[in-house]
Amino acid sequence: MARIAFIGLGNMGLPMARNLVAANHEVTGYDIVAGAVEAFAAEGGRAAETAEACLQGAEFVVTMLPEGQHVREVYSETIIPNAPGDAVLVDCSTIDVETARDVAARAGEAGFAMLDAPVSGGTGGAEAGTLTFMVGGSGDGFRRVQPLLDVMGRTVVHVGDAGTGQVAKICNNLILGISMIATCESLSMGQKLGVNIDALFSIISQSSGQSWVLTTYCPVAGPVPASPANRDYQPGFTTAMMAKDLRLAMDAAGTAGQATRLGAEASRMFDEFLEAGGGTLDFSAIYRKIEAASS
Ligand code: NAD
Repeated sequence: MARIAFIGLGNMGLPMARNLVAANHEVTGYDIVAGAVEAFAAEGGRAAETAEACLQGAEFVVTMLPEGQHVREVYSETIIPNAPGDAVLVDCSTIDVETARDVAARAGEAGFAMLDAPVSGGTGGAEAGTLTFMVGGSGDGFRRVQPLLDVMGRTVVHVGDAGTGQVAKICNNLILGISMIATCESLSMGQKLGVNIDALFSIISQSSGQSWVLTTYCPVAGPVPASPANRDYQPGFTTAMMAKDLRLAMDAAGTAGQATRLGAEASRMFDEFLEAGGGTLDFSAIYRKIEAASS
């Protein structure tokens, strides 16, 4: 049993922390939203009223926060000054590579082992404990934290030094964003030409157009009952986060000198959907915008 501080109990963090509790770890949770902490306490977690209280006695500190600015702030103002000196710090948020490397360097200067460990698999993967973890940081830190990641995930890969987990994640989400748009365009076009969604789904899911977006996260209600399309696009993974990740991918592409024409267009489309008010909806809600657009 490990003593774990878990900060950020949102759509992903809450089910991840719940799985650690179910595996008999002692998990203390904190979130700036009191209702999130209450939800965690109702499921057997320990509630902390402040981030500082959450950190007391922790052997591991796991964070699951929205963006780089939150990670930078929480680590510099709270975790690095207050966490026990031998705690291993693990940030599972999806953030820019530069912030991940900078925060890890500051944590290292203060004597901590810190890993970036972003995830793929969505809220369904978080609930089922089947996430993919992409981990950047020292081999020793990775070995210490791997048993916890194995509880929350099915695939755990040590990618390399600090920040490389974020590189892998942004490469994945570049495909995810493009793939969502391609799937929406195809499913909308097919239905407009008179083929129903069930027929389209059963054919494409067994053909070369098959993808995770289609078979696990279908943006049209019906074929995949657990997908956000069946609950009026409640997230899930918000449009705001997809737009953020594609911006991170475009920045990374600039750093790498890699042309990404489809990525640039996907980024533009999600930014437009965000500006039109879709930010808090699941990112698959872009189907509505694509379906409404005419050529
Ligand atoms: P979310 O907004 O549901 O959860 C983030 C939580 O962090 C919120 O509950 C918020 O109140 C809390 N928070 C913000 N600032 C805080 C602070 N200073 N101290 C404590 N808590 C604070 O977001 P999410 O969907 O859980 O995503 C979290 C991260 O995981 C993001 O970086 C996202 O890109 C990534 N991610 C999400 C998904 C998904 O499907 N939702 C999948 C893979 C990766």
